[in-house]
Amino acid sequence: APHTTVPESALAGLREDLAGEVRVPGDPGYDEARAVHNGMIDRRPAVIAQCAGAADVANAILFGRETGLQIAVRGGGHSVAGTSVVDGGLVVDLRRMHAVVADPEHLTVRVEGGATMGHLDRATQPFGLATTGGRVSTTGVGGFVLGGGSGWLERKFGLASDNLLAAELITAEGKHVVASADENPELFWALHGGGGNFGVVTSLTLRLHELPHMSVALLLYPPRYGPEVVRAYRDLASWAPDELGGGVLYFPAPPEPFVPEHLVGQLVCGALVTCAGPVARLHEVAERLLALRPVVEVVTDIPYADLQCMLDDPPGLRNYWSAEYLGGLPDEAVDVFCARGDRVPAGTATQHVLFMMGGAVAAGPSGYPLPWRTAPWVVHPFATWQDPADDGRVVQWVHDVRSDVKPWTTDAVYLNFIGAEGEQRVVAGFGAGNLPRLAAVKAAFDPDNVFRLNHNVRPAA
Ligand code: FAD
Repeated sequence: APHTTVPESALAGLREDLAGEVRVPGDPGYDEARAVHNGMIDRRPAVIAQCAGAADVANAILFGRETGLQIAVRGGGHSVAGTSVVDGGLVVDLRRMHAVVADPEHLTVRVEGGATMGHLDRATQPFGLATTGGRVSTTGVGGFVLGGGSGWLERKFGLASDNLLAAELITAEGKHVVASADENPELFWALHGGGGNFGVVTSLTLRLHELPHMSVALLLYPPRYGPEVVRAYRDLASWAPDELGGGVLYFPAPPEPFVPEHLVGQLVCGALVTCAGPVARLHEVAERLLALRPVVEVVTDIPYADLQCMLDDPPGLRNYWSAEYLGGLPDEAVDVFCARGDRVPAGTATQHVLFMMGGAVAAGPSGYPLPWRTAPWVVHPFATWQDPADDGRVVQWVHDVRSDVKPWTTDAVYLNFIGAEGEQRVVAGFGAGNLPRLAAVKAAFDPDNVFRLNHNVRPAA
């Protein structure tokens, strides 16, 4: 890996300027600080600036520019391509900035740029409040919301970014700006899907919703039942109330207390149905799935914050994922999906997922650079594994999933669900029609493309 050595004199200045800490190669804590969620990513930044606040962020950005270091911005560290860490460059690490303050009276919450979904849930759930979060608690709120934000509550409360009320940013010039419907409205528009292209977001203000009840059904079936289960799930989606979320997936049964020992590690087809309502309601709507006689059947009320931790992976596993958005799900597509499910790479913790969309996602504001929101289905192969010797066959399996479903794909894709898959996919993620507008915002706030380790929007000329 390349080593950029930053002169000690320059580093001393940065150390003095920051309320937070500076880590360079050889420092205690350096290896811990450079590790990201995806164990395949092993990069050695020249400097990691562990920022304690917005002023640190401004100082770090200016330092990076003056010393000519490439800048990566790190929130929760969950991007699969590892865009939040850079060889030989500067990481603006926001993890110390994780304060969350809920305002139950006005149903809003202010979240610092480095907070995780877990921080957010812990600050809002005691008041019976929530907003759409991701499907694990460890994802960074920043990267998640700025990319769009899809989760169990989206059919009821919209995408996470639909609930964005305001953001504070530090720009490439180290300036503080506010984006909201009234202030810098073009920038505010761009933050709904445009990701980290426009500056470092130091705070987000999100709308909260009352969520008095949450329930979940986790039903596991032998994989040969898969085609029937997926059909039942598809039919459910055609009339499902907006309270309903969830997906169907093929995966090796996890070592959880509710999974009988003989099934652990065996391939199963699961239906995970979430309901923003009490369990009685869930029983009603999931009736047909329950009738298919699952071998494991957990149907229960659950605090939302606990549901959010249910799928948490340990960090450090190897990760490779992608996604395709489908315009429809005819029987043939179901069969193709299930056939590939039968071939989930053995010995890994891979999930072959189908999520229903619709509800408040499809009905939400149509003008944002999130062209995939109207697609009714997403196929999301999500591979995690331990042994580098498996890299080839696992990555190939993900590619096979994508080519399998090609006949039904729309040309839009959610960029938070994919890694670095080339220019065409970035265009498909933002929507070709939205790109000139995004490029104009980029030119206004980051004309030199300082923030380019991301799904990149190039500044308009
Ligand atoms: P990072 O790697 O820290 O950041 C990714 C990029 O986001 C950075 O390169 C930067 O460009 C930008 N960024 C992050 N924070 C800021 C900030 N404060 N200011 C400016 N730019 C910033 N996504 C969903 O929508 N729904 C899910 O259910 C979901 N589940 C997931 C489960 C797992 C286990 C994982 C690993 C990911 C999941 N994701 C999900 C994807 C996730 O939303 C994206 O990976 C997202 O980019 C992660 O944000 P982060 O801050 O954790 O990542």
